[in-house]
Amino acid sequence: MGLKIYLDGKLVDEENAKISVFDHGLLYGDGVFEGIRAYNGRVFRLEEHLDRLYSGAHAIMLKIPLSKKEIGEAVIKTVRANNLADGYMRLVVTRGKGDLGLDPKKCPRPTVFVIAHKITLYPKEMYDKGMEIITVPTVKNLVSALDTQIKSLNYLNNILAKIEANLAGASEAIMLSKDGYVVECTGDNIFIIKNGVLMTPPTYLGALPGITRGVILELAAKLKITSREELFTRYNLYNADECFLTGTGAEIISVVKIDGRIIGDGVPGKLSKKLMKEFWALTKKEGTPIYKK
Ligand code: PMP
Repeated sequence: MGLKIYLDGKLVDEENAKISVFDHGLLYGDGVFEGIRAYNGRVFRLEEHLDRLYSGAHAIMLKIPLSKKEIGEAVIKTVRANNLADGYMRLVVTRGKGDLGLDPKKCPRPTVFVIAHKITLYPKEMYDKGMEIITVPTVKNLVSALDTQIKSLNYLNNILAKIEANLAGASEAIMLSKDGYVVECTGDNIFIIKNGVLMTPPTYLGALPGITRGVILELAAKLKITSREELFTRYNLYNADECFLTGTGAEIISVVKIDGRIIGDGVPGKLSKKLMKEFWALTKKEGTPIYKK
């Protein structure tokens, strides 16, 4: 059976969920989106995803035609319509239908849709054993050109990096800043641990303020693990004791080899595993309920 899709206020069958070829989300990547997860009948960190969506929309002067509350309800309604308790939701707001010019002034009404489905980015074995990734030549967009805090529909920068990883037979690509600092991966934030200190690149460098990243920083504070948002280079990656990636899609996954260099002991690290355990415990107990008791 096909999915039920939320599109501009209505739940429609997947085959009827159609968008105009004049939609500027499609023509120009003009819009913002969120990837959100549901665990155990609850939407995880829904408010934070909505806050990021609205902040991004505000930054690109895109007025979302629904309140945060209404859009949150649309997400929940879509999950419910598809009878999901665990799943992955894609919430998208585009500039809407315009003409063939790029001027957003010509787009009177934004398009809003929600897909509630499932996602599996990597095989289970990779989550157990850790993944091998590489750094790639495509540098991260400059925040002075396109601030990457905006989770925009324009993902070509990341897709080019992913293609480079694919060509090299690696599962993910680490993107560097123009000056060679580590920024993030194509769809996940990156963390390293050195001498018990947890480090992740700052968002001003071009890393998305990931919701999962935020949860890990919270959990580190709770577990009294020192954490810092800090600049570091490939040298620091290669010499880290532990490394892992975070994202709503990928969740949390250890990295055991980077550019051919073994990280730490070449297996998922102790502190990483501790953080992951706390993370999974959190997903089991918190979130916005989808089905009323
Ligand atoms: N970086 C990028 C480029 C992303 O697209 C994402 C989300 N897929 C993330 C990091 C992780 O963010 P979050 O934890 O909010 O999913």
